[in-house]
Amino acid sequence: MIARQFTSRCITSQLCARLKEPWTQGRQDMTRPSSDLAAFREVFSKAKHVAILTGAGVSAESGVPTFRGEGGFWRRWKAQDLATPGAFSQNPSRVWEFYHYRREVMLTKSPNPAHMAIAECEARLQKQGRRVTIITQNIDELHHRAGSTNVLELHGSLFKTRCMSCSHVAINHKSPICAALEGKGAPDPNSRDAQIPPKDLPRCQEKGCNGLLRPHVVWFGETLDSDILTRVEEELDSCDLCLVVGTSSIVYPAAMFAPQVAARGVPVAEFNMEETPATMRFTFHFHGPCGASLPPALARHETEVL
Ligand SMILES: [Zn+2]
Repeated sequence: MIARQFTSRCITSQLCARLKEPWTQGRQDMTRPSSDLAAFREVFSKAKHVAILTGAGVSAESGVPTFRGEGGFWRRWKAQDLATPGAFSQNPSRVWEFYHYRREVMLTKSPNPAHMAIAECEARLQKQGRRVTIITQNIDELHHRAGSTNVLELHGSLFKTRCMSCSHVAINHKSPICAALEGKGAPDPNSRDAQIPPKDLPRCQEKGCNGLLRPHVVWFGETLDSDILTRVEEELDSCDLCLVVGTSSIVYPAAMFAPQVAARGVPVAEFNMEETPATMRFTFHFHGPCGASLPPALARHETEVL
């Protein structure tokens, strides 16, 4: 199960080598994780460097569609059918319609209380000389929109493009991203492909290039950005508290990252809708929507000086 999750994302062998067998290390006693909020807040109040791993659950609470699981279709396809290099080379128009739709949907979505609590906590702790790093697998920029600044995007962003010719990465919040996609991308199964010629799809603006652009997101079958992974590894090695928020601990990346932190004896607190085998390795587990559980957990502690 775990191995399949890893390979389906084609994690770099470099990272796999860094895994340090997290499943065989960590908390020796294997007692159930605590759900004592006061105890968590005591640990939180003393932490100097907090790493927060976030996943699809946080976005789902803002109503962001993931195109996975039951009913998660765009037209007749799931994300894993369209978010691949093969799908893009075969039909760039269809894949751009899919991403255009996802970009436009984000104009109707907002950060939820979990995003806001994380951003507020980051700003507050920074003033106190403490550090918060958000490591997210979400591509919707809702952490940024909530005000977070120290965000590592493992899977890239819906609002960045990369040139297929010169590899230039650019921030792009245009709506629509190009004239030909205006009014396209309808998700219902009866919609027809727009069949936009590649010359009319988003093109590189770098001088003299005009290459075809693609979304700067990590697709199925692609490796993660090694610079981002190196920075993630540094954060995981140096944090003294780790939060796992809205991401199942059997699914990458929490499956690797959080148990790795727990194996160092560093407290890990999980805020999630479900328990998983990895939950037993963690110090705390808070059940339920993170928009409800996270704000009271991260609120200013009475011992904090401002
Ligand atoms: Zn280019």
